[in-house]
Amino acid sequence: MKTVSILGATGSVGTSTLDLVEREPGRFRVRALTANCDVEGLAAAAIRTGAELAVVADEGCLPALRSALAGTGVETAGGARAVVEAARLGADWTMAAIVGCAGLEPVMAAVEAGGTVALANKEALVSAGEVVMAAVRQYGATLLPVDSEHNAIFQCLSVDRPHEVRRIILTASGGPFRDWALDDMARVTPAQAVAHPNWSMGAKISVDSATMMNKGLELIEAARLFPVPSDRIEIVVHRQSVIHSLVDYIDGSVLAQLGPSDMRVPIAHALAWPDRMATPMEPLDLVKLGRLDFEAPDETRFRSLWLARAAVEAGGARPAILNAANEIAVAAFLAGRIGFLEIAAIVDDTLSRYDPPAPETLDAVLAIDAEARSIAGERVQKGRVKDPV
Ligand code: NAD
Ligand code: MG
Repeated sequence: MKTVSILGATGSVGTSTLDLVEREPGRFRVRALTANCDVEGLAAAAIRTGAELAVVADEGCLPALRSALAGTGVETAGGARAVVEAARLGADWTMAAIVGCAGLEPVMAAVEAGGTVALANKEALVSAGEVVMAAVRQYGATLLPVDSEHNAIFQCLSVDRPHEVRRIILTASGGPFRDWALDDMARVTPAQAVAHPNWSMGAKISVDSATMMNKGLELIEAARLFPVPSDRIEIVVHRQSVIHSLVDYIDGSVLAQLGPSDMRVPIAHALAWPDRMATPMEPLDLVKLGRLDFEAPDETRFRSLWLARAAVEAGGARPAILNAANEIAVAAFLAGRIGFLEIAAIVDDTLSRYDPPAPETLDAVLAIDAEARSIAGERVQKGRVKDPV
């Protein structure tokens, strides 16, 4: 039996993971489940799976969790430190599916526990890539990419032969506004931005997909995970989201991974790895699909793409600042405080105001993250940016 912990168990990736774990009760045993404050969702999942421990990051939600789980035998805890401790408990396999840099310390704790960490929480790797990857090597942990593109690359790449790889091609759906004029994009509402054409996801990543910052973060994530430099990682818009990414080899062979746009496919790959497990997916019907389209991304309308590429090429603290400012700007957009195009403008502005030296420790990354949030927050306070483009 494989022991499993799920950090961010009540979110989109978390519930997809639970769905797979619960399909094979004889194969997996649940240790810890964590959430921010969704007591109802967390308690129900803990009872269904017979989890050892349920943790809420928001301490104010602990009394409700305690009463929901009274008499069930599931242990409870609350607070951000308790989430880190739950990750540190270690399991054979830990799903890191907390959203944002809030997931960084739990990811580090799971890595330090030395098991297999299935990584959905891309922000952790964008902010602290070198620190996380150094810890993976130091503690002998195994990091498996769950983001669908990175999981696709992982399936297609011979990691021990990077010199034979010519390019990695990351596919992007282009989000809901891929065909919109810039003037119309300026008036986008949060409800329009979270309605993704192909995938059902949490609010933050849905907005990131709409600005294409998601693909920018994924470019940085890919450069951290795989031994291929960022200038050999290309982005192609592929509106059907059937090909999840491709690897181009020096002999002209291009390997791709295809599948439905359902996160249970890459999660199942990581959960069973190095074996495979069945999922309830219908077989891919190529004839019904008929065609697959590809086009170049438009970096004028989707400014986040070049901001992210510039950040990964400059390295150091740039990716952490980009990520922190983006988290603040996306939250402000979702709260109706700024316009859609101002998200990238705030990220750009924060990057131009703050240029600390490269962080070498987790604490240094967290300090840069906090300072960048504060600078981006001031920019939000100032109100609308006149000419965000
Ligand atoms: P979500 O918003 O649906 O869920 C987030 C989870 O994190 C919830 O369980 C929530 O309770 C918890 N959480 C939120 N804030 C927290 C905090 N401060 N401390 C502790 N826990 C907290 O998000 P999601 O769509 O499941 O995405 C999770 C991560 O996976 C993100 O990093 C996202 O980029 C990545 N990802 C998601 C998808 C997808 O299809 N949803 C695909 C690829 C990658
Ligand atoms: Mg992705």
